[in-house]
Amino acid sequence: MSKIQMTTPIVELDGDEMTRVLWQWIKELLILPYVDLKSEYYDLGLEYRDKTDDKVTVESAEAIKKYGVGVKCATITPNAQRVEEYNLKKMWKSPNGTVRAILDGTVFREPVVVKGIKPVVVNWEKPIIIARHAYGDVYKNVEFRVEQGETAELVIRGKNGERKETILSFENSSGVVQGLHNIDASIESFARSCFEYALDKKQDLWFATKDTISKTYDHRFKDIFAEIFENEYKAKFDEAGIEYFYTLIDDAVARVIRSKGGYIWACKNYDGDVMSDMLATAFGSLAMMTSVLVSPDGKYEYEAAHGTVTRHYYKYRDGEETSTNPVATIFAWTGGLRKRGQLDNLDDLVAFADKLEKATITTIENGIMTKDLYALSTLENKKAVNSREFLLAIKNEFDKM
Ligand code: NAP
Ligand code: MG
Repeated sequence: MSKIQMTTPIVELDGDEMTRVLWQWIKELLILPYVDLKSEYYDLGLEYRDKTDDKVTVESAEAIKKYGVGVKCATITPNAQRVEEYNLKKMWKSPNGTVRAILDGTVFREPVVVKGIKPVVVNWEKPIIIARHAYGDVYKNVEFRVEQGETAELVIRGKNGERKETILSFENSSGVVQGLHNIDASIESFARSCFEYALDKKQDLWFATKDTISKTYDHRFKDIFAEIFENEYKAKFDEAGIEYFYTLIDDAVARVIRSKGGYIWACKNYDGDVMSDMLATAFGSLAMMTSVLVSPDGKYEYEAAHGTVTRHYYKYRDGEETSTNPVATIFAWTGGLRKRGQLDNLDDLVAFADKLEKATITTIENGIMTKDLYALSTLENKKAVNSREFLLAIKNEFDKM
């Protein structure tokens, strides 16, 4: 059998710990036997990041900018304990943060849904994809405690002089005060990434804020989305047969719970933080949550939403078998290869990605799964296997297809 050919390299960002082990196995068992893999490889493992003063992370992001599609393994974000463990020169920044800053993208998270693992919300039939704006608001706040008798004001100073508004005279009690901001450029990028991704997935886009209460701040988000949609995307959405839908955040939450799923939900920074954890939990397992960073000019980086699964890695290092779930990492690869195939008009690469996803889901639905899923699955014939056995079962299923 001849292998599937690629024309443009996919940018490959290797990572750390247990996911680095799974990364190798996925390539060895599920990719390399079938695809003549053209990849531009960057080692984002912590040791090499440290060795290159984190230049490798910047270079990998530049490569995604150049080629358009990357696939990333989970990586350690160093803290004080990691600095000691790896004897690091510096507490390097989060690679995801560095890549996101360079691509200026938005992260979309999507659960892999399988029979036997029922979402907590019984009417959810299809995945709900969540997009979180990753800049500003409460994450870049300025805040004070205020004494009784003090007065808090909001002051804007600039070339047109000064604007000032009293927030509160704290006459009867001490309290707290907080200043938030966002910038149009970031909201515009967020909006474009969301519209681009909705077109890519051919799914409706929902967006919600609290503009009835926040008549200037949240209303600005609503207006920017509406303007960009009308001017740049309405015709494309009509053609694709999808909708852009704006509502209030509380109405959105109620509708999400009542829905069947199958759409993209764009959230402001805080809403996205909170709601993505709710959705991930309600859909079942973090190990089944995939993630893609989409830049406003249509560059894609695919990864698993979970981390490097340190607890399992330490066991693996001690020679123990682990039953770490590779599904989100497999889907990172299939997401990246499918996108590469679509951009380069390689139908067999697209078909390969579809088939590998199908083989993965079928394996679980036939009852073969890792321990985390075994604990959740309602299937009667279920069996828990270790990571490598699970990958071999997927390969077996794939070969049958
Ligand atoms: P984690 O790696 O996501 O793992 C937390 C726990 O969730 C695991 O101990 C395991 O539970 C379960 N889990 C997660 N993924 C799993 C999988 N694929 N299969 C089975 N179980 C899974 O989070 P963490 O332990 O907080 O972080 C570890 C490292 O990952 C940190 O250094 C952090 O910086 C990094 N991190 C990286 C990314 C990224 O690159 N995108 C994201 C988050 C964290 P049990 O132990 O109960 O089995
Ligand atoms: Mg959170």
